[in-house]
Amino acid sequence: LIEMKGNFLPGNVRVFCRCRPLNASEASASSVSLVEFDSARENELVIRAGTNPKKLYKFDRVFTPEDDQPEVFADTSPVVVSVLDGYNVCIFAYGQTGTGKTFTMEGIPGNRGVNYRTLEELFRLSTVRKGEVNYEIKVSVLEVYNEQIRDLLTTPSQAGLAPKRLEIKQDADGGHRVPGLVEAEVHSMTEVWEVLQSGSAARAVGSTNANEHSSRSHCMLCVKVRGENMTTGECTRSKLWLVDLAGSERVAKSDVQGDRLKEAQNINKSLSALGDVIHALTTKSNHVPYRNSKLTHLLQDSLGGESKTLMFVQISPTEADVGETLCSLNFASRVR
Ligand code: ADP
Ligand code: MG
Repeated sequence: LIEMKGNFLPGNVRVFCRCRPLNASEASASSVSLVEFDSARENELVIRAGTNPKKLYKFDRVFTPEDDQPEVFADTSPVVVSVLDGYNVCIFAYGQTGTGKTFTMEGIPGNRGVNYRTLEELFRLSTVRKGEVNYEIKVSVLEVYNEQIRDLLTTPSQAGLAPKRLEIKQDADGGHRVPGLVEAEVHSMTEVWEVLQSGSAARAVGSTNANEHSSRSHCMLCVKVRGENMTTGECTRSKLWLVDLAGSERVAKSDVQGDRLKEAQNINKSLSALGDVIHALTTKSNHVPYRNSKLTHLLQDSLGGESKTLMFVQISPTEADVGETLCSLNFASRVR
């Protein structure tokens, strides 16, 4: 187990687990939580599954349902700060639909999540360093749905119009970029907020059910930071990815057909590709299979090498979800 208070070294992968509270209908049905926390054993949790033996899991950090957004961000912000020092960073939320991925990343009005707080912290620190190091911050918002990349900052001229397909290109210096992707330069949190809002609004366009669509696509925010040292003229460039992944729940093949089956297979493919990449990185394997999905290909510069990776594994406390909870916890245990 990596010591939480220690430095988050380049090349490290950290896993934080967050359990959502019982919701109103679960609470009124007197559901009890299957997830147990012990204040004496910080960063561990136990799953009580029926008559099965209890299962113990350890992570770099475990957040209980009582831990709110500021507590979560307090442990996330050190990673964010290293973006200003030139490190590439990738933060993503993994888990079954309904476990709080969007709550953690986007947050809700009046209780914002990691995305907003991250940009706020970047602006705060860049203001502190202004004159010494001047920063330029650009934001892109995109989604990956059915192995297709869609820019959420370009407005299709007609709602429902097939969006332009974007592709990933490798530069001569080995970096990756998406030609044609809109990069909005932001100078204030007001501008950031506008960009985030238009990204969210574009996500729903062309889908009959916005919630369902968002649970089946990966929503990705890319923050590019360029820092110029005013004394030495030295420049740093770094990239931060903030990713709200598609729901990890397995769908029974017998339940779905046609488009829905293809969707499920693509989600499966990209989430297992992500697991394989991180597993290859943590086991120091010579071959890291980035090219197996659009998701891992996009994140290539920010996973592995000198970059820092943080994964939130989101879980539900209820008995009805225990199968998926165990799958998510096992996925997260495998990657670290
Ligand atoms: P997901 O994105 O994984 O499908 P959501 O973020 O939409 O899940 O969360 C499902 C519901 O649970 C939402 O109403 C959300 O506000 C609520 N929720 C999730 N996590 C928490 C939490 N830690 N505290 C309070 N409410 C939460
Ligand atoms: Mg969501």
